[in-house]
Amino acid sequence: MTDLYEASRLIVAHDAESLLGAVVPPIVQTSLFTFDSYDEMIAAYRGEITRPIYSRGLNPTVRAFEVKLAELEQAEDALAFASGMAAISASVLANVAPGDRIVAVRNVYPDAFRLFGTHLQRMKITVDYVDGTDPQAVERALPGAKLLYLESPTSWVMEALDVGALAAAAQRHGVFSVIDNSWATPVFQNPLTLGVDLVVHSASKYIGGHSDVVAGVIAGSKANVDRVRAEIYPYLGGRIAPMDAWLLLRGLRTLPLRVAAHQDSALEIARRLQQLDCVDRVLHPGLAPLPPGLRGTTGLFSFLFHDGIDLRRFCDALRLFKLGVSWGGHESLVVPGDVVLEQKARPNSAHEFGISARSVRLHVGLEGTEALWADLTAAIAAAR
Ligand SMILES: *Cc1c(COP(=O)(O)O)cnc(C)c1O
Repeated sequence: MTDLYEASRLIVAHDAESLLGAVVPPIVQTSLFTFDSYDEMIAAYRGEITRPIYSRGLNPTVRAFEVKLAELEQAEDALAFASGMAAISASVLANVAPGDRIVAVRNVYPDAFRLFGTHLQRMKITVDYVDGTDPQAVERALPGAKLLYLESPTSWVMEALDVGALAAAAQRHGVFSVIDNSWATPVFQNPLTLGVDLVVHSASKYIGGHSDVVAGVIAGSKANVDRVRAEIYPYLGGRIAPMDAWLLLRGLRTLPLRVAAHQDSALEIARRLQQLDCVDRVLHPGLAPLPPGLRGTTGLFSFLFHDGIDLRRFCDALRLFKLGVSWGGHESLVVPGDVVLEQKARPNSAHEFGISARSVRLHVGLEGTEALWADLTAAIAAAR
């Protein structure tokens, strides 16, 4: 509870410096900031004073979010983006050059996999995929690599990794490490304290928490964040809008309470699903001892039905669980694995990301455990 309390105090606290004592920081919805004098302008351009010039570089609402996120991740600095993918692509691009090799854990977020397989391939950067649950396999792949790309737990199949052990291996080989921490959130996992160099979040998920914003953020040492900033401000440009940063500030206020509620409901539902004779396997990190450094679990997991359950009828019979991608909001969601395997719109769709046609991914929202369980059991009965 100590961690939860500390985090709550930090993000619920009134921001004393805000305008007119406003309890919520204002949305500074402006593209540029004007100067009072030539001298002030030239001082800003020379870097002698730090003040906003243009919102692609620095905006007060965006900065307020970045400061809170950095504190939550125990980081020196943070930088917010227009999406999680903008955060991922900028973080990777700022740390590799043609001819480099990346080691990535298998079953990463599919669009990260697509970035590696298309854009990075054109830049002559190769990617080796390894089983992240096997630290020795990761260690064997590291010599000569430039970057270790981690996600824990991995997407869909939810392999929870020993992040500290993998980060230590990367350090032994002088390899820069990046982790996608969207699932655990800073409430349940702080990878920088486990030795990872840079943390990435899709803030569209739990950090936003209300399914009304697409955004991303990175956190790390000042030097590591500055290296990404040096590419995002002058030319990559995928920065977040002030309104979206304001929505993330709003989301942060309740993050510890929400993830605790997602944790309780999802774990209970995962345990009950495991008892059903129609369920083959439940892939939820909380059903086994958690790896060191992971302090809790959240609402997203998947499971596999045995043959004999009609996925189409199961999905159509659900009432509270809505068919939809993404996760991390108040609402419960379901994605059938066989539909994902049909995806044609994006490259590399043949790669299965560990997804089985009998599997289902659930996001357990905040509607209440018993109501959600009644919804699931009624839909299973309809699908037999
Ligand atoms: C959604 C997601 C992303 C991408 O984030 P966007 O905000 O949608 O660009 C990255 N990683 C994981 C694990 C995700 O679930």
